[in-house]
This record gives sequence, C-alpha cells and structure tokens, in this order.
Amino acid sequence: DTIGASLDRTVAAHPDREALVDVASGRRWTYARFAEDVDTLARALLARGVLKGDRVGIWATNCPEWVLVQYATARIGAIMVNINPAYRAHELAYVLRQSGIGLLIATPGHRTNDFRALVNEVREECPALRETAYLGEESWTALLASAAGCPDGALAAREAELSCDDPVNIQYTSGTTGFPKGATLSHHNILNNGYFVGENIGYTEQDRICLPVPFYHCFGMVMGNIAATTHGACIVIPGPVFDPVTTLTAVAGERCTSLYGVPTMFIGELNLADFASYDLTSLRTGIMAGSPCPEEVMKRVVAEMHMAEVSICYGMTETSPVSTQTRRDDSLDRRTGTVGRVLPHLEIKVVDPATGVTVPRGEPGELCTRGYSVMLGYWDEPERTAEAVDAAGWMHTGDLAVLREDGYVEIVGRIKDMIIRGGENIYPREIEEFLYTHPKVADVQVVGVPDGKYGEEVLACVIPKQGAEPLTLEELRAHCRDRLAHYKVPSRLQLLDAFPMTVSGKVRKVDLRERYGR
Ligand code: ATP
Ligand code: MG
Repeated sequence: DTIGASLDRTVAAHPDREALVDVASGRRWTYARFAEDVDTLARALLARGVLKGDRVGIWATNCPEWVLVQYATARIGAIMVNINPAYRAHELAYVLRQSGIGLLIATPGHRTNDFRALVNEVREECPALRETAYLGEESWTALLASAAGCPDGALAAREAELSCDDPVNIQYTSGTTGFPKGATLSHHNILNNGYFVGENIGYTEQDRICLPVPFYHCFGMVMGNIAATTHGACIVIPGPVFDPVTTLTAVAGERCTSLYGVPTMFIGELNLADFASYDLTSLRTGIMAGSPCPEEVMKRVVAEMHMAEVSICYGMTETSPVSTQTRRDDSLDRRTGTVGRVLPHLEIKVVDPATGVTVPRGEPGELCTRGYSVMLGYWDEPERTAEAVDAAGWMHTGDLAVLREDGYVEIVGRIKDMIIRGGENIYPREIEEFLYTHPKVADVQVVGVPDGKYGEEVLACVIPKQGAEPLTLEELRAHCRDRLAHYKVPSRLQLLDAFPMTVSGKVRKVDLRERYGR
C-alpha cells in the first residue's frame, strides 16, 4: 500500500473518530476533517507544480501542520524531507542542498532559533530552493488557497502513478556520532514499520497517543503518527517542544492511553516536584526508545505512571526505525534488560564486526537487520549506502548487541562508544547502570577519554541530584570498589548541569569526549 491508500482505509472505517488534537491551540480533527485538510494541501502542492519525487522540506517543531504535510506529500508522491529544528545555518544549508529541496514549509521560528533569518542567510547557497511557506503567515494561506487552481482529477491521476516502493521521505540521522546522513525511506518501509509497532502495542481506535517526541524523527512520525493512523488511533500533540509539565498536563487532560519518550524525558517527568498531582490513570502503554533505560526509571514508569505495558523499542533511522520491540506480556526484566524481539517478518543476526561471521547466541557482536524496514539507501550517497547495507541486504547497525537463546536482544552499546582501556573492552552502559544507583546521582554518562598510559581512561559525567552535597571522585570510587572490576572504575569525574543533546533527546557522547577529554 501507499501511505495515502492506507489513510483512506482508516478514514472509511472511522470517519468520526478523533485523529489529531493540538493541546496548545485547542484545535481538533476527526479523521474525516483530517483527510479533507490533507487533500486540500495535496491539491495545493500539485497546483504549485510539485512533481512526483520532488523534495518538499518541513522545518518545524511539533504542530498539526507537520502531520498534514507528512500525509499530503505522501499522497502526491513527493519526498518529504524532515529538517531538525535545532539546525543552524551550516546544517540547514547542507540539508537543503544535499536533498535538493524546492519548496520549504517552515515555522517562522521559535524561542531559540529564528528560522526565517536562517533561511534568508542560506538562500543564496541553495539554488534549488524556489519557495518558502511560513506556517501561520500569508505565504502559507496563499499556498493553501492555490488548491482552488488544481484541476479536478489531478490528485487521483497522480495517486494512480504511485508505487509502494517509491521514496516518500528523507530523514537525516540524529547526528549522535557525527554528521547526519539522509536515510531515504519508501511508503513500504514506513507503513509496515509503523503498522507492526502499533500491532505489538495492540492499538485500536480507542487509543490516544501523547507525542512529546519530535516529529522530525521516525520516533514521532512513524512509531507515533503512522502507528496511530494505521489503527484509527488519535495523535495528541502536547506542545511544540518537549516539556514535562505540558506533557503530563496533556496526558491527564486528554485521557491519553499511551505516552512516548526517550528515557531522559521520562526522568524529567518523574522528577517534577508536583508529579503526584497529575492524573495519569488513563495510561496503559507507551514507548521508550532511542537510548538505554536505567532499571530504576523503568520501575517507576510502570508503577507510578500506570504504564504496565510500556514497550521498549530499538531501531535506527535507517530501518524506519524499529527492528526489535518488547511485547505486551513481557516481564519487567525483559523490559529493562532487553530491547525485545525482532518485529514480525524482519530478520536480525549478530556478527563479529571484523569478520562478518555470525557469532554464537549469547555472545556480543554487531547487530544487523534485513527486511521491509531497511531504507532504500542514503540519499545521493551510494558509497556510504554500500558501507552500511551489504549486497545481501543486511543493514550493519554499528551497535553491539547480544542475541539471547530466547530471541531477546540486549544492546551493549555503540561500537564507537566502546572504551578500550589497557586492552580491556569496557561498555559504558554497564558502568552507567551501576552509577545510577548512587544516591547523589540524578543522571550519568560514561565516556572514554584519551590517556597516555592506558590509551583510554573512564570518565564519569554526572548530573547530581538537587540538594545533595556535591559528589566527589573519592565517593564515587568508594561506591564502585569491590563492586566493579578495577579497570571499569572511573578515574575521572565531571559534574554537569545538563548533557549536550541531540533534538531527538540523545546524549552526544562525542561532545562530552571532546569537551572534557583533556
Ligand atoms: P548518527 O547515526 O547520525 O550518529 P543516531 O545513530 O543517534 O545518529 P538515530 O538513527 O536517531 O541516529 O538513532 C539510532 C541509534 O540509537 C541506534 O543505532 C542505537 O545506537 C540507539 N538506540 C536506539 N534505540 C535504542 C534502545 N532502545 N536502546 C539503546 N540504544 C538505542
Ligand atoms: Mg546511527
């Protein structure tokens, strides 16, 4: 199916159910209204001359128009390019040029980033960019109005030309480990992935999904939006950017059944001083993904946020994104210790990164994925595609994992984050889990930093709990003594107020290494 055909089926089945709620503005769409607005925008884009395969950029924090653009571009066979709201001029210009965006739909900007100024700054360097429509302004109203000039039948004619294997989306990876790469995804990639994620959670048209995670990333637009629209569920947008208060307010006010987040978002919500005052009893499930979740946090999410069925997903932009997921009836330790089992009809294997040979079950190696989720390729970068996806179709994830006898996968860390100290392999995740149990530690990241004697040394970057006496390196080391192998005990400590993050909520360890590595 194409994304448009899938939406048609949901609209036919549930025309009057709520599809989309924007809590900030109070605007609401039923599926019938949503489909109408998608069609108007689709016809407007056709009237503006957007051809099949043309790239249309969307540069905005979360808002209902983001979702309309996602479905309207899919409907006309255009390729939507998600642009990270945190980008500055340099990255914006790179993405506009690299993907060849002709029409850009953007918000004028937000508190910390003046999008219009940045677009103006880079326009000269981006000759393909013909037009920018700013949401909420005249250029956007004018774009929508051009729908009137779209000939009858033009939309149906375009839809008849589309195939489910056409590219529909370019998503640049988070840039956690370096410069972002433009993963090109098809209707088939995204639709199947979102559908199966929703199936594993058991979504129905009764579900209301609170999405504080960015739409610009697969987490929001596939695991959120596509999982919702393939099941007739409702998308609830708590606000333009993540905020723990607006998120919990939206869950309580909209009686959401599902809440998404990366672990740091859940930590922020649980640590609110007035956390207990939010009525979260409507929650049943949700997704936690993107980075490993400390066990303590998982226990509180299940017990105090009522998310007994919370689902852990693992994946990457290049695989649309999910490869493995926990199931509804999984025990708590499967949810904390593993990232679940492979999605239906996908394959995974774990190989020795040096030789490519599959390692025995239970031993660590590089995780590889094959099947309907694997991207078409990196946009216009055949060499990098060939490095990531081998001739047999396996995506090499760059993540170290263990595939257990029972089929569950444990993520050990990224190959690039592994610390090698005096010849010993150290996985930061294990040390982080342990340090998290220290009473003065609110959050912690462990990285390897260059060391003359051992090659690398272990640095712990700690966000201390508020109100506690400052944590010292001696205390931290005393806590580890006799409980961690000596070579894993951090030899350096850096106290911080916050970690450098990507907009998708991941800690940029690469920045920690650079800043505190000398
Ligand atoms: P870049 O590739 O640009 O450096 P990135 O890999 O962070 O950035 P994404 O595609 O957003 O970009 O993230 C995928 C990565 O996130 C995975 O390769 C994995 O390292 C990590 N990840 C995703 N889900 C989980 C999870 N549940 N547990 C642990 N790590 C996870
Ligand atoms: Mg990556």
